[in-house]
Amino acid sequence: MAANGEELMSRTRDTAEVAPTPVPTADYPAERGIFCNRTLNLRSTRAVGYDMDYTLVHYRAQEGEKLAFGYARRVLGDRGWPVDDLKFEARQVIRGLTFDLELGNLVKPNRFGYVMKAAHGTRVLDFDEQRRAYAGRIVDLSEDRFVFLNTLFSHSEASLFAQLVDRVDQHELPGVLGYAELYQAVRNSIDAVHMEGSFKAEIIADPERFVEHDPELPLALLDQRHAGKKLLLITNSEWDFTRSMMSYAFDRFLPDGMTWRDLFHTVIVSARKPDFFFRPNPMYEVVEENLGLLRPHFGAIRKGGVYFGGSAAFLEKQLGVSGDEILFVGDHLYGDVHVSKAVHRWRTALILRELEEELRDLRDFEETQKKLREMMEQKEAIEAEICRRRLVAQRARDGYGPTDAEEADGAEARLTELREQFEELDERIAPLAQSAAELGNPIWGSLMRAGNDKSLYARQVERYADIYTSRVSNFVYQTPFAYWRAPRGSLPHDPG
Ligand SMILES: [Mg+2]
Repeated sequence: MAANGEELMSRTRDTAEVAPTPVPTADYPAERGIFCNRTLNLRSTRAVGYDMDYTLVHYRAQEGEKLAFGYARRVLGDRGWPVDDLKFEARQVIRGLTFDLELGNLVKPNRFGYVMKAAHGTRVLDFDEQRRAYAGRIVDLSEDRFVFLNTLFSHSEASLFAQLVDRVDQHELPGVLGYAELYQAVRNSIDAVHMEGSFKAEIIADPERFVEHDPELPLALLDQRHAGKKLLLITNSEWDFTRSMMSYAFDRFLPDGMTWRDLFHTVIVSARKPDFFFRPNPMYEVVEENLGLLRPHFGAIRKGGVYFGGSAAFLEKQLGVSGDEILFVGDHLYGDVHVSKAVHRWRTALILRELEEELRDLRDFEETQKKLREMMEQKEAIEAEICRRRLVAQRARDGYGPTDAEEADGAEARLTELREQFEELDERIAPLAQSAAELGNPIWGSLMRAGNDKSLYARQVERYADIYTSRVSNFVYQTPFAYWRAPRGSLPHDPG
């Protein structure tokens, strides 16, 4: 263990990507924590299923999404669309936003579905425009009008959609009748990129450019495997791509003679999640020694085997584990976490890489946040005093109810004074509130908050992910025996 630890440390120094953790420690950075919505005892988890893309294999989103954007632009260009000058803008969008296909907007709703920020195409709406568009209308994700940006893979699609909305408005796209049709064309172009071989071939050919190493990740899975858990890989990616990515991400950090394949009890590729959780799709075995050809598979699952397709129900039956004995770890809020929880009651962990940067930003902002909170408290006190004095003056003027004649006499002068204080405080609050709103992303702010409230994304995370964390290797810090207890939720009427 010590030798392994030292080895890991030296390798980590070389890559300079993450802090080394040779032995389990309670002393780890706050942003590498695992956060709990519902109590989860990892000791009683018998199988841990993993998604691959952006879960076990973390792509440099900027590079990968730029590449996908470029390929999709080519697909649309072939349709005769004027798209050559479009550029991928990484900061234009964040995960968890929603497309409004009726108005061609990107919106950020709060947990109740009220729109807190909106952009039409690439232009951010001002307060009045936003109110006109969304007064009396909430974002309900069950409506076809709204499309939720579930993963980091949505960045290229969203950036393309936003820029093309501008072109639709300028009547530059031949034959496109509306934003819903535009979205479908963008969606199809992105799907074509992911299905067609050259995009993935480019990543396979140059993994260093696209994949970020995490030297602690294989250790996290080794810990779980040695603690007796069956590890499963359930990915929508094809076998060729999966094999290349997993080998690149894992093999160099595993003990000599071991490969990523030794970690997993079962590997399922081309799983077609979320369908995998709903339907009894046929399963095939990937015949590795025969160029990855597929052989229909019906019987027991072979330990160490690689399968294609199939379903969660079949897998549960074959492995003899079900429901809350399985923890599924993925980055796609709907395809990995929502459906596995809703349909099979699997325990769920969401991987949310952006959380690390957001938590660091929040920590740096703590002092300012404290000042902001103090000023808001002063503002509320002044506001309450203004309300009280107005009522005293009103009762004195109209001659009813208990009042204070002396106070009523000086009410106007005192009210003017208080209003001045209020305005002066507001001016001091504005720039701080603005900086707070820009934490995470200058346009959209933080992933999990919308204004002072939780974002709709945060609400979805809370509903479907039992735990969430920035990366799989954070399990190293908390061991395979961890017990996460849900915090006591706060309520507006809680004392103090
Ligand atoms: Mg994924």
